[in-house]
Amino acid sequence: MKKYNLLLQTVLIFAFAFLIFQTALAQSRVDKILINEATRITGDEYPFFTYAPKGARVYSVNKANSKMLAAIDQGLKDLFAIAAKHNYANRTNYSDYTIFIANPDRMKDFEGKYSPDIAVGAAQYAGTIYDKGGYVYAAGMVLAFNPCAFVIGEHTKNLERVSEVVRFEGEHLILYHNDRKFYNKTADHSKGGGHPILQ
Ligand SMILES: [Zn+2]
Repeated sequence: MKKYNLLLQTVLIFAFAFLIFQTALAQSRVDKILINEATRITGDEYPFFTYAPKGARVYSVNKANSKMLAAIDQGLKDLFAIAAKHNYANRTNYSDYTIFIANPDRMKDFEGKYSPDIAVGAAQYAGTIYDKGGYVYAAGMVLAFNPCAFVIGEHTKNLERVSEVVRFEGEHLILYHNDRKFYNKTADHSKGGGHPILQ
């Protein structure tokens, strides 16, 4: 009987280890797709990975400092607060989010204000006021809906702007998972409308 228990225990341990291994493998496969997508859009490499204190996953071009990570947490906190107000419960955990911190393609906006933004292909913005010759400058951009991922520019100051961009990009993801109709209506800013979407 003792021998049998030991055997069962061993089998269980192996099964459990295999499950963890499989989950880790699937996780890294998904991450690889996310990283490829972030690289395709921004032209950057993301050699650094860490968790923000509340559990959001962060890939970055440079080692993410604690101020950036705290600002990301704050942005998600604000996002979840406004989501709760609308009774949106899906994707309201910090760990649901993967954020990429890219090299900004400009440091100032047209008014000369600090605005580290990334240049992305114009696509639906072609010919609109956002079009700067085949590309547009964006503070952030959604990369994937499953899992939730978006990219923002690296900031060295004005960290409140990071929180704001995180909240704003997060709005699209929250809407996608909680109110698809409203998501469709607000996803494309070239047709007008900006952030915040959720009041
Ligand atoms: Zn937006």
